[in-house]
Amino acid sequence: MKTVLPTSTAGSLPKPSWLAEPETLWSPWKLEDERLIEGKQDALRLSLDDQRQAGIDIVSDGEQTRQHFVTTFIEHLNGVDFEKRETVRIRDRYNASVPTVVGAVDRPKPVFVEDAKFLRRQTDKPIKWALPGPMTMIDTLYDDHYKSREKLAWEFAKILNEEAKELEAAGVDIIQFDEPAFNVFFDEVNDWGVATLERAAEGLKCETAVHICYGYGIKANTDWKKTLGSEWRQYEEAFPKLKTSAIDIISLECQNSRVPMDLIELIRGKKVMVGAIDVATDAIETPEEVAATLRKALQFVDADKLYPSTNCGMAPLSRRVARGKLNALSAGAAIIRKELSA
Ligand SMILES: [Zn+2]
Repeated sequence: MKTVLPTSTAGSLPKPSWLAEPETLWSPWKLEDERLIEGKQDALRLSLDDQRQAGIDIVSDGEQTRQHFVTTFIEHLNGVDFEKRETVRIRDRYNASVPTVVGAVDRPKPVFVEDAKFLRRQTDKPIKWALPGPMTMIDTLYDDHYKSREKLAWEFAKILNEEAKELEAAGVDIIQFDEPAFNVFFDEVNDWGVATLERAAEGLKCETAVHICYGYGIKANTDWKKTLGSEWRQYEEAFPKLKTSAIDIISLECQNSRVPMDLIELIRGKKVMVGAIDVATDAIETPEEVAATLRKALQFVDADKLYPSTNCGMAPLSRRVARGKLNALSAGAAIIRKELSA
């Protein structure tokens, strides 16, 4: 990447109100069949245009074709029964009724590859594609077949690797695995979480990223954050393993978070996507607020490895707020670029 401080988003962007109910997670589609396919593609183009207008350097599909960052991928797999539901505790934080693993899991056909090809045709900019990580996937299911979180994670890693290789062949430049579960299950992260993530990324020649955050700005997450005390040191648990892992980029939540910035020193040498936009508030950051976060991060990340980004996805925000935040991200990065070149 030639651009200094290339900007990107962590993931989702809001959908247009004619496609799905705005400011809602798991919002049902408002269109059907052919119209839905066309509607999703139109939404993807609009989302890309918002990123282009804001001057975002590494663009994405804004996750316009999926209802949810984990569930939509799993829906396309064999072995999971979405009718058979059990209540489980998601990331040890809130109860949800989830589908059941009833047999061996596999991927009968590619899930996002056609969408990625469509995005590739729309732009010459580098593109990033997000997939759920193995540990976060198992954490949204009730397993009645493998009866082992680790075993199921390895199965998902194999499936993710198949999908990732086809996304790479479709022209994706960065494949990102979303692993918010890494901030919760520390023993598992170190026992097999990072290993299954590396399995998902095995053999890829494009860049790979892992996104670890404190979740969307929904109530269950903001309530949980209130219980975490004055310093959030969760990243400390996974960082040593991640530093020696094969993953190229680590995407983190830094804006308005209580994560001590010096924890990033533990992954010195990795590229870091620094979340400089808070997705849990409608208040739009000023460029100077974004710049201040990036400046702090620069104490622990070399400038050529710093990628300004958002804390998490912006799907639950209004389109107006999300656009404002994209602009703030660009303007904040521009301030620091100027300082670096001075
Ligand atoms: Zn996130």
